[in-house]
Amino acid sequence: MEGKTKVLIVEDEAKLSRFVELELKHEGYDVVIASDGRKAIEVFEEEAPDIILLDLMLPGLSGIEVCRRIRKTSAVPIIMITAKGETMDKVMGLDSGADDYITKPFAIEEVFARIRVALKHKRKDADTSDENRLKVRNLTLDLGSRTVRLDDNNIELTKREFDLLAFLVKNKNIVISREQILNKVWGYNYFGETNVVDVYIRYLRTKIDDKYNQKFIHTIRGVGYYVKDDEE
Ligand code: CA
Repeated sequence: MEGKTKVLIVEDEAKLSRFVELELKHEGYDVVIASDGRKAIEVFEEEAPDIILLDLMLPGLSGIEVCRRIRKTSAVPIIMITAKGETMDKVMGLDSGADDYITKPFAIEEVFARIRVALKHKRKDADTSDENRLKVRNLTLDLGSRTVRLDDNNIELTKREFDLLAFLVKNKNIVISREQILNKVWGYNYFGETNVVDVYIRYLRTKIDDKYNQKFIHTIRGVGYYVKDDEE
């Protein structure tokens, strides 16, 4: 990736996140900040950071939960920040998917060092674990090249169809309402018919489910849609 490395700081202590932000910027990093767990997921999706510094104890979603959710779709390096007494066992043993951890209070040089190590690992793994790739069963989406494959078959989708499918696959196994889909895929300023979602779901089903005789997109009547990971 060209340009500055973008760091997402997830920390509810404003003073601490401000301090780390200034130090990182001084080192030449781009910095984005989230002050709680839910924000962290949002900012992560919007900003696509290169690395995440994630506080363990957060209001709302815990650091562990944030980590798990991000890991469902991304291999971005995550460094967990823990307070004294929250041991490595606790953090890493929970299978949260964090790459490393730092204990508070920390020296800022330690943060720099951990970031460099994590990014080096990421570069090494770049070929094998592609964070731009979403997968549900034998269906693979490449967010970089915006291509979709089912086994060895290329599936041609329009831009909107791709965005809709990517949103469903990112949130696989979670039922999503038409309103959520409209907001996320069509944007908040969309004022057209809400049944546009149903129309596009039908397009996707025609091109994928029906064509390859596999059921990916499920309907929960009156609620919304979801993509299911395991076949029945
Ligand atoms: Ca905290």
